[in-house]
Amino acid sequence: MGQIAQKLVEGLEKAGGHIEYQARVTEILLEDGRAVGVQVASGKTYRARRVISNATRWDTFEKLLPSKPLPRAEQQWQQRYQKSPSFLSLHLGVKATAVPPETECHHILLEDWARMEDPEATLFVSIPTLLDPDLAPPDHHIIHAFTPSWLADWQGLSPRAYEQKKEETAARIVERLQKIVPNLAALLDYQEVGTPRTHRRFLGRVDGTYGPIPQRKLPGLLRMPFNRTAIPGLYCVGDSTFPGQGLNAVAFSGFACAHRIAVDLGL
Ligand SMILES: Cc1cc2nc3c(=O)[nH]c(=O)nc-3n(C[C@H](O)[C@H](O)[C@H](O)COP(=O)(O)OP(=O)(O)OC[C@H]3O[C@@H](n4cnc5c(N)ncnc54)[C@H](O)[C@@H]3O)c2cc1C
Repeated sequence: MGQIAQKLVEGLEKAGGHIEYQARVTEILLEDGRAVGVQVASGKTYRARRVISNATRWDTFEKLLPSKPLPRAEQQWQQRYQKSPSFLSLHLGVKATAVPPETECHHILLEDWARMEDPEATLFVSIPTLLDPDLAPPDHHIIHAFTPSWLADWQGLSPRAYEQKKEETAARIVERLQKIVPNLAALLDYQEVGTPRTHRRFLGRVDGTYGPIPQRKLPGLLRMPFNRTAIPGLYCVGDSTFPGQGLNAVAFSGFACAHRIAVDLGL
């Protein structure tokens, strides 16, 4: 997976670009109603002819533009779209003997269709080292298992209660995973648990959401906004723009946004 980001970095730097890592934008700077730059957590500011936000629209308009009333177009978008849940992720390292020969790379576990959308019900499983063994140390496999989870279920816990809840939830999931990987619990070598709080913190996504989903049935993807916004000079990109969630979709969004800005700049 990291290869995709690394290739994008190579391309961007080749074109004269520069990436500031670990630089959290705290505010989009406006002058006369126009986006003219950003301020990052260190206090440093950057000015630009165009500003593009890859944060969700909720984060962009509610957190990065705190003094600006929510534009009408964004109010409409918020009425049409809601936040899908976040995920609970288990990243496991197991002894290779745990995974029987002929095991498939991807699985979906769901015992009760009526609970399909409930937290912890549908379990998505991937064992990437079956396709790419070098990702793990010799004689080991990586298992990634994730299931929908809401931020509300992980809030208001003391650090100790939070850790305990992670451990208990992980143990239930490991138990279910033994349908695919028998003896998993005994052959487990490493375990990391990510919650909706992890998604919120490390991806800067409100409530750790996976992304926007329609509030009601809409006539196709074209109701998703494109890259321009109601604020001159500010563009949005990523999964809260057309065509929505998923790597292919956000790659298209990035391409479309670059094209839009190139045209707007007269390049
Ligand atoms: C567990 C899981 C499994 C998935 N599996 C698949 C799959 O198999 N196939 C598929 O196609 N898609 C999958 N997806 C969906 C896909 O990962 C997302 O739709 C896609 O990554 C969204 O891209 P994005 O650029 O819009 O947002 P993000 O990937 O969230 O990128 C936004 C970036 O902006 C940064 N950022 C946010 N706020 C700020 C700020 N204030 N300052 C500086 N930086 C900031 C974040 O750190 C982040 O790097 C999966 C998602 C999850 C969570």
